[in-house]
Amino acid sequence: MPFRPRSVHAYLLDTPGGWVLVDGGLGTDEAWSALDAGVREAAGAWAAVRLHVVTHMHMDHVGLSRRARDASGARVAMGRLDAERMAHAAAHPAEEAEYRRAMLRRCGAPAAWIDAVEGQRAEAQPLAPPVEADLALDGDGGELPGAPGWRFVWTPGHTAGHVSLHRPADGVVVAGDAVLARITPTLGVNRQRADPVGDYLEALLRLEALAPSRVLPGHGEPPEDGPGRLRELRRAAEEETETVGALLAEAPRTAWEVVEARYAGRDLPDAARLLALRETLAHLDRRAAAGRAAIETRDGVDGFVRRRDGEGERGASTPEHTPHG
Ligand SMILES: [Zn+2]
Repeated sequence: MPFRPRSVHAYLLDTPGGWVLVDGGLGTDEAWSALDAGVREAAGAWAAVRLHVVTHMHMDHVGLSRRARDASGARVAMGRLDAERMAHAAAHPAEEAEYRRAMLRRCGAPAAWIDAVEGQRAEAQPLAPPVEADLALDGDGGELPGAPGWRFVWTPGHTAGHVSLHRPADGVVVAGDAVLARITPTLGVNRQRADPVGDYLEALLRLEALAPSRVLPGHGEPPEDGPGRLRELRRAAEEETETVGALLAEAPRTAWEVVEARYAGRDLPDAARLLALRETLAHLDRRAAAGRAAIETRDGVDGFVRRRDGEGERGASTPEHTPHG
């Protein structure tokens, strides 16, 4: 990939129902050549691939899906919320753009900066042509249709509809970006789920309950100790809520200002700042929902105010499905 992380994994699962391709790569000719060579080497021909599972709708995972489907005739399966998000974005691009802009305005991002990141986004768009899912994987988990011996597990957080795959016979988990060995997967505010941080903590518990023998990530080397890495990621997400909360004060601070303080002295490229904003806002929202921060809204911009634990306690809101219209 022309940006970090430099590579993404695609996996081929050999099942009695035929080969299953998990993820693909960025929609470039270079990435296609690599995927094409790998599929031919392992499965013999594209026609042997009967199912294509996309762990989540990010461009580095879904960018080659349309080409993979055209080459193989395989059905495309995605988590329900990501399938819906992708279909909605393809059908209503202007409305999607307005949602993103409003979310960034809510963070306190300057208008010129929002224009710049939207411009970069438009430039990157051809790297991920949208693909329609033939199969929407719904619920906390279940059998993976057409792939005997494999189950899917709903592992939201990185995206609302992220799914991982699990082979109970030997405990192998193909985790997508739910688990990475050296970096923590980014979480982010989205319009489909109220508490992406809470979602992610539950997803990690769901994976921990499987006591996986091996966890295969979307990027980089597999963690040496899968269950240990799951616990580490859970602690890191919980700590981040505290770190972000410690940057609040009596006077309202926007997510933009919290990110400035959180990464003080570090040069954040726009793409990294965007991820940091969405993630920081998710942690701030989580604190507010638990009564540990107050929100003061002015002209569509949310300022967060510190609240001592217990003060104005409302209790954590119950995460629920909030699909977009
Ligand atoms: Zn990724």
